[in-house]
Amino acid sequence: MESSVLVINCGSSSIKYALVPAAADQPRLAGAAERVGSSDAYLKGSDSHGERFEKALPGADHTRALEAILAHLEGRRPAAIGHRIVHGGEHFTKAALIDDAVKAAIETTAALAPLHNPANLEGVAATGKLFPDLPQVAVFDTAFHQSLPPRAFRYALPEALYRDHAIRRYGFHGTSHAYVSERADALSGIQGGWLTAHLGNGCSTCAVWEGHSLDTSMGLTPLEGVVMGTRSGDVDPGLHAHLSRQLGWSLERIDDVLNRGSGLLGLSGLTNDMRELENAAGEGHEGARLAIDVFCYRIAKSLAALSCALPRLDGIVFTGGIGENSPLVREKVIANLPHFGLGLDRIANAETVRGREGRIDGGHPAAPRLWVIPTDEEGRIAAETRQLLEEITA
Ligand code: ADP
Repeated sequence: MESSVLVINCGSSSIKYALVPAAADQPRLAGAAERVGSSDAYLKGSDSHGERFEKALPGADHTRALEAILAHLEGRRPAAIGHRIVHGGEHFTKAALIDDAVKAAIETTAALAPLHNPANLEGVAATGKLFPDLPQVAVFDTAFHQSLPPRAFRYALPEALYRDHAIRRYGFHGTSHAYVSERADALSGIQGGWLTAHLGNGCSTCAVWEGHSLDTSMGLTPLEGVVMGTRSGDVDPGLHAHLSRQLGWSLERIDDVLNRGSGLLGLSGLTNDMRELENAAGEGHEGARLAIDVFCYRIAKSLAALSCALPRLDGIVFTGGIGENSPLVREKVIANLPHFGLGLDRIANAETVRGREGRIDGGHPAAPRLWVIPTDEEGRIAAETRQLLEEITA
């Protein structure tokens, strides 16, 4: 029986997909429809032989883009659909089988993620039309962090803002932090205390104790925390009033600059792409050097702060495009944590790139471990989908 899960990550103008078989050694079919809803929409991906394809889908909406995706599943019919849903608010502490009540709850939460949740729901509607008899499961980015204690999730704001408007810290990248910390447990043979650093275009850190998230760097929105590709991360909360009063900036402009014009791009004045920044810094570009310095220092500072949540520190895990591929960033983050007794094996650090999983510390038994673990958000969404369906049918 086919027991693949079709994982769908539906944004406002893109749909990422992966058909994930139950057996880890089976090939996945994966790709993305981009610029959905526009005249230059297209689909790209790879087939079961790893061959890449790209196809124009002019004017395709979400349903048509999904139909095109289905045509590239090589006749394989999934057993279920797993949807990445960005915000589950306080309502969802784990994955949920999608029915009308769950859809309504996701809609209610849309006020907290106005760009993401409505687009995610469009994906649910489109797959529901195409596969009316398949179970659909919602897997939330925020669910893993619902184990945060109040001291970590509450802002020091008037209580009514929390009580009446759900303003609190939620955290994101939950499937990634959950996956890599579980993998670190398995590889280390312990239920550990880990600091995980997911460093991609979006970046966040997390403190995980015995499989539970105890604190994380992102908050009400994915803007809080460390420096990201184009997002500022933490700034003085007084900045908004200052930009408004002194420079006359509108809220929209402030929001746009903090989300799309800041971070590595804003600091360097060059690019949000870490590879390009490393090359430019090597050629003496001052902005690129500064951007990398601030980025690494702020990650170290965040990890040090999050270590307060852990009863014991067993190690640090790096993941995401930068965490998996940049020995320079890893080395600089570790150099900024001089009191942690970390030992870096420079050769292992240089060699653990391009999808390799491995330890990059010197192996000293008293020192915290340093792991590089490629993340697998699609695999985790498929696993949670499968697990929930097994629980329901048991
Ligand atoms: P997303 O968050 O969009 O999924 P990724 O996890 O793919 O993004 O991470 C993208 C980032 O990873 C980019 O900044 C890119 O430059 C960086 N990256 C990828 N490969 C390398 C590399 N070899 N060295 C340094 N940075 C890299």
